[in-house]
Amino acid sequence: MNKGRILVIEDEQKIAEIVKAYLEKDGFHVTVAPTGRKAMSLLKDKYDLIILDLMLPDMDGEDICLAVRKDSDVPIIMLTAKSEEEDRIKGLGIGADDYVVKPFSPRELVARVKAMLRRVKGAKESSSFNKGGLVIDSFRFEVRKSGSPVVLTPTEFRLLQCLAERPGQIFSRLQLVNVILGYDFEGYDRTIDAHIKNIRHKIEEDPRDPSYIKTVYGVGYRFIGQPDED
Ligand code: CA
Repeated sequence: MNKGRILVIEDEQKIAEIVKAYLEKDGFHVTVAPTGRKAMSLLKDKYDLIILDLMLPDMDGEDICLAVRKDSDVPIIMLTAKSEEEDRIKGLGIGADDYVVKPFSPRELVARVKAMLRRVKGAKESSSFNKGGLVIDSFRFEVRKSGSPVVLTPTEFRLLQCLAERPGQIFSRLQLVNVILGYDFEGYDRTIDAHIKNIRHKIEEDPRDPSYIKTVYGVGYRFIGQPDED
């Protein structure tokens, strides 16, 4: 039984072994990279999800995250000993989809891995807005802006999909956090803002004058794209 391939980038051998054991027990195929350099060489292969330690001996986890995001939207869960909100937001801002603060329970990590993979696979249809200006293909997991593909991370995709499923409806940041993660956490409002900012830069002509995601001051966000006829 192979539920998916996971790359674990972690220099602390004990943690890597525990994470590997728990994931394998659940049917995942796990590859461990103990250094950034090793990870970079392994990235040629395809993975369904990457677990990335932020602090590696030879490379900064953030640099690996950015390198992965250059040509892949594979879900990334960051492991971090840094618990400062700034660092977490930064992790999500550079394209990580979730993060787990050390020390963590392996069981919780496995639960997050499964939740993330479910979210990635869950979606089905395709919808078009503003006369084809924005197309969200939930089956192929693709977004096109005026016909050109836009690469969103799984979290950005899920956020956009959620907003676009109910045009006009206002979502609070807390609701959006629940949508993408299935639970609340500290600092959620700025996390959502960081994701929305990323999405806008990718899908809007002018992120400062958005045609798709509007900020509702003091409340949250709503999707203002006009659904096209089928
Ligand atoms: Ca480390």
